[in-house]
Amino acid sequence: MAGYNTHVTVSSILGIGVGAGAHFGLGFTPVQAVLSGILTGIGGMLPDLDSQSGKPVREISALTAAVAPLLMMRRLLVWGKDSDGAFLLAVLLYSVIRYGGASILGKLSVHRGMFHSIPAMIIAGELTFLGYIHTDLKVKFLMGVSIALGFLSHLVLDEIWAVQWDGLKVRFNKFSGSAMKMFGPKWGPNIFCYGLMFTLTWGIFVDGGINNKQAAVQEKNMVKEAKKIEQTETRLR
Ligand SMILES: [Zn+2]
Repeated sequence: MAGYNTHVTVSSILGIGVGAGAHFGLGFTPVQAVLSGILTGIGGMLPDLDSQSGKPVREISALTAAVAPLLMMRRLLVWGKDSDGAFLLAVLLYSVIRYGGASILGKLSVHRGMFHSIPAMIIAGELTFLGYIHTDLKVKFLMGVSIALGFLSHLVLDEIWAVQWDGLKVRFNKFSGSAMKMFGPKWGPNIFCYGLMFTLTWGIFVDGGINNKQAAVQEKNMVKEAKKIEQTETRLR
């Protein structure tokens, strides 16, 4: 498999390309384009969350924990009802991912198991699509695709490395399996992975309409609230 630095470098370069393409080619705003580029960079590190040991996995889980609440900001505002509730949810989400999620994942998953697969890539994209609330579906789609592209770059790199390594060490890949696979050797992870993928796909069809409208209303209310606070402040001065 390719090393941590290789993955970060390749997905970051890809991210610059994705960001540039999103803005200059597809007409997304500069902010959206930069965000999509960063997500591509992060996506390229995600598959190695399943490696049980070492500094990279700690770093990736810390990064995921920090980015997830930011990415879900608008959704947290809807769930938390106001900015206080959203902040509490953000802190909770960070702690759960940082301290709970990563260690459970490390124990349950096998390195280069189903975390290194095409369905896992789709799941990462779908989670981003669902987590990132925006009134414009195109923007949600851009964010989901960006993560997925980064993820794909990781799988491709691992695949290339495995082939190279096979020339030197024939048995290297015997247990790890291919990175760009549709199915793993075990039933359990396959069922879990595909179950999650189909649930999220269903969620996307539901999410397409309702929650976005809720978010738009919520956002308008937040702006109104902020304006009121501003007015009160000017009056007090
Ligand atoms: Zn990997």
